[in-house]
Amino acid sequence: MVALFGIGRRALLGSAGLGIIAAPTILGRAQAQENQNLAINRVTPPDIHKFKVGSFQVLVVKDGARASGNPGETFGTNQSPEEVGKLLTDNFLPADQFVNSFSPTLIDTGSDVILFDTGFGKAGREQGMGRLIEGLAAAGYMPDDISIVVLTHLHGDHIGGIMEDGKPAFSKARYVTGETEYNFWTDAARAGTPAEGNQKAVLANVKPVADKMTFLKDGGEVVSGITAMAAPGHTPGHMIFNVESAGKRLILTADTANHFVLSLQRPDWEVRFDMDKAKAAESRKKVFDMIATDKVAFLGYHMPFPAVGYAEKQETGYRFVPKSYQFDI
Ligand SMILES: [Zn+2]
Repeated sequence: MVALFGIGRRALLGSAGLGIIAAPTILGRAQAQENQNLAINRVTPPDIHKFKVGSFQVLVVKDGARASGNPGETFGTNQSPEEVGKLLTDNFLPADQFVNSFSPTLIDTGSDVILFDTGFGKAGREQGMGRLIEGLAAAGYMPDDISIVVLTHLHGDHIGGIMEDGKPAFSKARYVTGETEYNFWTDAARAGTPAEGNQKAVLANVKPVADKMTFLKDGGEVVSGITAMAAPGHTPGHMIFNVESAGKRLILTADTANHFVLSLQRPDWEVRFDMDKAKAAESRKKVFDMIATDKVAFLGYHMPFPAVGYAEKQETGYRFVPKSYQFDI
């Protein structure tokens, strides 16, 4: 292959030659993206953030972040790229790239240490992600301290950290996830469909701990004060969690909204990662209407770290207002 380039590009500039020349360009772009991701994840120790919700101690860990090009190919896929770019620049963000971050969260209730989602694990480490365990350790939590692992849904960026070197990373934990979600991803009918790739990840990471798993329906309780609410669309059994302690409240919205501007300000815009786009938009509006009306804080897995804020209702959609000292006084 190397020799092919040696014999002169000009001779290869036919239709076949274009293919050969295009390959290193794509590889070059992927390499540049990988280098950029390694650079944005080079933080020691990883970003962690603690705050209290009533008597519950909350710890947010940044598992990592990932930069991607062409925002309009992921968000607002039923809009023109110009329209998507304009909303970004109107919000002081670049139009040609976006950064997605990943924030698994631990809640220590005093009697249980509950982890919500597990990040990328090993699958993310090539790009400097998969830093959950490192972040937990920075706050004094060891993997064996986790008593319950809750999975909001079973996408790769939420289940990748369940297994480490073929063994459960949190050896003392039991697991909780939505019944609809688990049944969907483990159903043999997924083979040969677009869901097959993620099904493989579920079979490798979630199935091995199924004997320690309990399944929730809408309204089901994880422990006293933490209740599941169905918010389907992103995935068929996607669940969010209402957390209440001593008069304080926080909603873990998981992947109901995946970008703090594009998904919140335009909840109807279609998102590539939402499996049922209409249902995801319906859940987005229902959940964020409740959050805006109740003026309650939320923690969104893909919101900018530390991923906690409020939603202010606007003429169209909602404006993200990051948390400051509301929980400290
Ligand atoms: Zn996600």
